[in-house]
Amino acid sequence: AERLARAERMIRSIPDYPEPGVLFRDITPLLADAAALRTVVEAMIAPFEGRFDVVAGVEARGFLLAGAAAIAAGVGLVPIRKQGKLPRPAAAVSYDLEYGSATIEAHDDMPVGCRVLLLDDVLATGGTLRAAHELVDRLGARVVGTAVLMELEALGGRALVGDVHAVFRVS
Ligand code: IMP
Repeated sequence: AERLARAERMIRSIPDYPEPGVLFRDITPLLADAAALRTVVEAMIAPFEGRFDVVAGVEARGFLLAGAAAIAAGVGLVPIRKQGKLPRPAAAVSYDLEYGSATIEAHDDMPVGCRVLLLDDVLATGGTLRAAHELVDRLGARVVGTAVLMELEALGGRALVGDVHAVFRVS
């Protein structure tokens, strides 16, 4: 618990980034600290131990945690990418943002029934993780859990995403 508290203190809050009125949570100081990185990655995967075949991380900060989580859990990694980045046939899901929309993609070669642990850094409105879940469903794989480093509770993402394991929560 003390190690988690120390890691949480390394997340910085940056006012008015990327636009006025937004309080951005910057996890890079935590990522740069070996003990904090290991502690949070282990905390993200612990509730799901032995129950997933791969981790899927959402571009871009989700990749950073997913790579570390895959090694820690002894499983492989599937990247969920922004539109147009993957070289082979991919499934796509589009979702609404505050202004406009976004599309995420994953290669359509996941083994059927593959058990996927979905990972991202921050749960805000939930649109990204909801779309990622739909994408995995569409590929014939199975989401067995969703974990984030930090949940921004005030944005209500949990209502959209359902059950999420959040290592840290801020209101
Ligand atoms: P959502 O779709 O609104 O839940 O937004 C989640 C996505 O936006 C995640 O992929 C995050 O990386 C990113 N995001 C939103 N707010 C923050 C923040 O305060 N810090 C870092 N990433 C954020």
